[in-house]
Amino acid sequence: MSSAPATRPSAPRPGRLGVGVVGAGRVGAVLASALRAAGHAVVGATAVSEESRDRVEALLPGVPVLTVDEIVERAELVLLTVPDDVLPGLVAGLAELGRWQGGQLVVHTSGRYGTEVLAPARAAGAIPLAIHPAMTFTGTSLDLGRLTGCPFAVTAAAPVLPIAQALVVEIGGEPFVLDEARRPVYHAALAHGGNHLVTLVAQAERALADAGIEEPGALLTPLLSAALDGALRGGEQGLTGPVVRGDVGTVRAHLEALARLDGEDLDILDGYRHLAGATTRRALAAGKITEPVAVALLDALAEPAATAGEPGATPARAGATPPTGAVPAPAGAAASADASAATPLEPVLARTRAELAAALRSLGGTRALVMTMGALHDGHLSLVQEAQARADHVVVSIYVNPLQFGPGEDFEAYPRDLEADLALLVRAGVDVVFAPTDAEAYPAEPLVRVDPGPVATVLEGRTRPGHFAGVLQIVCKVLNLVRPDVAVFGQKDAQQLALVRTMVRDLDLGAEIVGAPIRREPDGLAMSSRNAYLGPVEHERALALSRALRTGAAAAEAGAAAVVTAARAVLDAAEGVDLDYLALVDPDTFLPLDAAATGPGLLAVAARVGSTRLIDNTTVQLGPRH
Ligand code: AMP
Repeated sequence: MSSAPATRPSAPRPGRLGVGVVGAGRVGAVLASALRAAGHAVVGATAVSEESRDRVEALLPGVPVLTVDEIVERAELVLLTVPDDVLPGLVAGLAELGRWQGGQLVVHTSGRYGTEVLAPARAAGAIPLAIHPAMTFTGTSLDLGRLTGCPFAVTAAAPVLPIAQALVVEIGGEPFVLDEARRPVYHAALAHGGNHLVTLVAQAERALADAGIEEPGALLTPLLSAALDGALRGGEQGLTGPVVRGDVGTVRAHLEALARLDGEDLDILDGYRHLAGATTRRALAAGKITEPVAVALLDALAEPAATAGEPGATPARAGATPPTGAVPAPAGAAASADASAATPLEPVLARTRAELAAALRSLGGTRALVMTMGALHDGHLSLVQEAQARADHVVVSIYVNPLQFGPGEDFEAYPRDLEADLALLVRAGVDVVFAPTDAEAYPAEPLVRVDPGPVATVLEGRTRPGHFAGVLQIVCKVLNLVRPDVAVFGQKDAQQLALVRTMVRDLDLGAEIVGAPIRREPDGLAMSSRNAYLGPVEHERALALSRALRTGAAAAEAGAAAVVTAARAVLDAAEGVDLDYLALVDPDTFLPLDAAATGPGLLAVAARVGSTRLIDNTTVQLGPRH
């Protein structure tokens, strides 16, 4: 950024103010210089230290150095840019001495205070204003350019607010009004972001120096610039690193490395612990990691760091040997789980019925089943969490079931990544993963088939004939193989959930079927393995589905017809969304509800965005609320 030159005095012009600066520190000298550039006369500045005098000379050439008394006597606008702690005493002292004048503008820039601190000046008839730039100052002419467009919080009594706003505009800033009560949190936020960033950079540089890097600053510049840019543009969306990967082992290795730094650099270890802890909590709240992963990370962060050579630096996993007949998880899963006491044990990977049976024999207590087709995402992991809350052990099945795909559907293209799935399931702490091959799942062409009945002929069943028969075939088989106490299915596939419930009831399959709510991306898109097919433009277009459901649900009080009309209007207006169906149905029978229906309903939608078929739904409560 080019630096603006320090301002020269211009001939005083009518209508301009005489400005006096009390405290020609970095902020005061720069703001006074900017006011001077806007045409005001700077009548004097206090400057006790040599540094301040040099600054006045550089930024305010020709401006006399005066006492506080002289400035308050001569200036129409007194700029109080003294340290926060000094401000209250200074204002009160000048009031006691009777120095404040009626109509005089008194402006302070302290982030800590609003205008209340200027009450003694106001009592003498002065006009108190508080402005606070969201900017850090070097105290050189470099800052002048940075004032352009710089946000300034402005606090003042309503009738005089425009004066404070106008002053900010004159020096090139962007004023915004901030409540007196909100000022402390505003200031804390700026200090936390602006000042502590400096500490963070210094700590990273220091640790790099320890790694033998000669110019740590130069090394960090591209990385930190990209990280800052990404954080400011996309918030936490783009967060990467071991915490969001749930990589407890790497976090632990970092703690060990930082614990070996010199004693005087131990603040770096402390800083890492605190920020990694905060990152974990925020990632959990944003749904980026699951609770068991967060707990494992927080446990690791709370442990005293072991240094190299100390026993127990990487504790051995207990009881990780899989039971006979079971195959241990592949290397990728084991490596990303990393050996650590806080990380849950590896699940047993069973690829055959025999391995599954052996793994189940080794489990005591109750068990819950989660059935998936893999390409796992947080929606699946939320089902795992629900299952963990309901049973002692959790079995997850991963199988892309050919029977439920019709001709021309995406069976071949369906995303498959067993290693990545296993890594997620290790971190989620599941006990057994059943991932059969086709030959294991269907050793022979199944001749006896499950007939899903009438619910399978509407909505999804209508568009995908045979789909639910295929789904129930595999669900029935896996329920029989696993014999769970509980099985958790997602409400995302509401019709599937209803059919599974009915099958378990009608065929006495014995498991309790639990429905789990739909997990969504922060932008509303229901999570799905098929979302991986969507490019950025299609992803944006796909948001119309959840938007339509929200809009429809918002009209529920007005009745069924209003719900459908509102949702359809959104979909009609959406670009690139090829609607298959939008239907408001009875949540049990999946039959359409008529316009006068009241009570619970299910608003379901299916559409193609590009070549990707997406489904979503929401429950609604129709009719007036009581
Ligand atoms: P799939 O792998 O697509 O067959 O899904 C396996 C299970 O995860 C099914 O019970 C789905 O309903 C459930 N599921 C899929 N997506 C989500 C989601 N976004 N939120 C909650 N559950 C989901």
